[in-house]
Amino acid sequence: LTTGALIAQMLVEPVGLILRWYDELQVAQVSLARLVGVRDIEPDAGDTSLAPEGRDVEADEVLFGYREGVDVLREVSLEVAPGTRLALVGPSGAGKSTLGRLLAGIYAPRAGRITLGGAELSRMPAERVRAHVALVNQEHHVFVGSLRDNLLLALPHSRLHTSGAVGTSAEAVDVELWAALNAVGAGGWARALDDGLDTEVGSGGLALTPAQAQQIALARLVLADPHTLVLDEATSLLDPRAARHLERSLARVLDGRTVVAIAHRLHTAQDADVIAVVENGRISELGSHDELVAADGAYAALWRSWHG
Ligand code: ADP
Ligand code: MG
Repeated sequence: LTTGALIAQMLVEPVGLILRWYDELQVAQVSLARLVGVRDIEPDAGDTSLAPEGRDVEADEVLFGYREGVDVLREVSLEVAPGTRLALVGPSGAGKSTLGRLLAGIYAPRAGRITLGGAELSRMPAERVRAHVALVNQEHHVFVGSLRDNLLLALPHSRLHTSGAVGTSAEAVDVELWAALNAVGAGGWARALDDGLDTEVGSGGLALTPAQAQQIALARLVLADPHTLVLDEATSLLDPRAARHLERSLARVLDGRTVVAIAHRLHTAQDADVIAVVENGRISELGSHDELVAADGAYAALWRSWHG
């Protein structure tokens, strides 16, 4: 966008501008990621609609570093079957969050491949990546605007153009937004707001608690409806009560999806179908909880320490 076009839009269409900025930001992020990676970008590959059975997430001999000459991940290969859960565990600084970002398509590998249903994430357009996979972390961005604006960010552009024959009416969209708020347990406090979805939030508007901001982020997830989620330390900043509340909301959001969870607690790992131990940028152990406990390696030691 040129500056002139930006200003013109600012004058006529503030909300649209925010939405487009958001999109530009996402595109910029992914383009940056592509600059970090060394592979060429090929024009569009793959289909928007992946059949459920074709939604496996795969990392194949992935090499990645944030800076030239400093490898953070090496020879990382793994496979997550649709609808199953993978837990990443390991010491701080091992590369778990980095691997999560790659699996979510935020960065591209320098070598090797991350694929979703066989299609390479780094070659998909940003909007398509977002439709398939989302990263949930501690950064819960609440944007300046109404509660509605904040939720609409999650819907693809094609759904927002309500004037055309194929568009959805504003009322129908609001029904969807309320359903998403209810799904994450935010319906109660949101209904109590005098201005409802029109309530201004973000700096200068209603100050949301961290738990509320997190619920908004989760409601956006419900609306975006990606089949794969990467969770990174989603509960660690909250007090125990808020964390329990979030966990209940999250459980509903996770249901039926493929989940990669960076696990800091015993039960997140124990409940996973597969556990990958990440140590010094490599996967050192891969297996179920029982298998890894029996193997008596790094995971078994971690499990004993978690047990107290
Ligand atoms: P973990 O999540 O297992 O604690 P991270 O993936 O956060 O590990 O970090 C792995 C390594 O990559 C660390 O050495 C860390 O300092 C480095 N690192 C993480 N994020 C960035 C970043 N955005 N830029 C540069 N280096 C980073
Ligand atoms: Mg981390």
